[in-house]
Amino acid sequence: MNKKLKFNDLTTSRSSQFGSKNDDERLLSTTSKYFDITNDSSRKSERKRRVHVKIKCEETEDTSHLIDKQIKYEDSQNEKDRDVKEAVKEIGDKWMPLNWETILENIKEMRKNKTAPVDKMGCHKCADPKASAKVTRYQLLTALMLSSQTKDQVTHAAMQKLISYGCTPETIVGTPDDVLGKLIYPVGFWKTKVKYIKKTSQILIDKYDGDIPKTLKELQLLPGVGPKMAHICMQIAWDEVSGIGVDTHVHRICNRLGWVKKPTKTPEETRMALEEWLPKNLWSNLNYFLVGFGQEICLPRFPKCEECLNKDICPFSKKDRTRKKTIL
Ligand code: SF4
Repeated sequence: MNKKLKFNDLTTSRSSQFGSKNDDERLLSTTSKYFDITNDSSRKSERKRRVHVKIKCEETEDTSHLIDKQIKYEDSQNEKDRDVKEAVKEIGDKWMPLNWETILENIKEMRKNKTAPVDKMGCHKCADPKASAKVTRYQLLTALMLSSQTKDQVTHAAMQKLISYGCTPETIVGTPDDVLGKLIYPVGFWKTKVKYIKKTSQILIDKYDGDIPKTLKELQLLPGVGPKMAHICMQIAWDEVSGIGVDTHVHRICNRLGWVKKPTKTPEETRMALEEWLPKNLWSNLNYFLVGFGQEICLPRFPKCEECLNKDICPFSKKDRTRKKTIL
């Protein structure tokens, strides 16, 4: 794995679409075939006689709409994390942490094989693929509610049981608490979550025709739905980026990396601190990258700094090593 990736690594797809200086040269040479000029000497004589040069025209299909589509439907990771250089321009004179671009590229490199639990069992993977769009949104919200203080594997297993049982607002409302409890056990705080999920389901039936609300504000008014859940829900259920989803992994890692101007105490403080400097085009995937990174390498208790591509530039790792040296 490369320790430091270049910005160009991320821009390949765009560069290949929009071209570079070399592409311009290639384009010029390609274009020259449209001119009916056989050799230099004949060109000179043609010029002297002031004879008009004939230009062959070929109708070319307007493919700009196809390019637009291609960009739109590119793999979301490539699309949304496109060019860090572009992001730097957006920042201007704002405060930003040292080496953040390199650190982020290194994290992406470490995450490229998608082997973390979140990759296969994150909330975005918890809905029934055969469900309607409305029911899918409900299941995504339910998975998010179950996921707080719970490992992805446990949330995913509970959701599979719920889906087999029937995971719609109507079914959940009609399910006795003890039955629902058994279905979602052993997710963290399962007793409280039974209450929240049932109350939320009733509100969704009464106010939203069984769907979930489409605004951040309304989502946060639902019992058991906090800012982190609401932001992630907006993204995975409605495909809208309203803010950075900051959970304990993102909170911990951002503090270790010094991605907050001063240490923060809560995920919500971290979210606000991050949103002050991190370019908006990088918000959508930050949670996904950092959660997986936190599950595999930057662990809560014993981070695997020796395996980490950021070990030489991470402030936390440096501190740790200085401490070890002092002790030794
Ligand atoms: S060097 Fe250690 S603390 Fe720093 S990001 Fe890597 S694993 Fe986390």
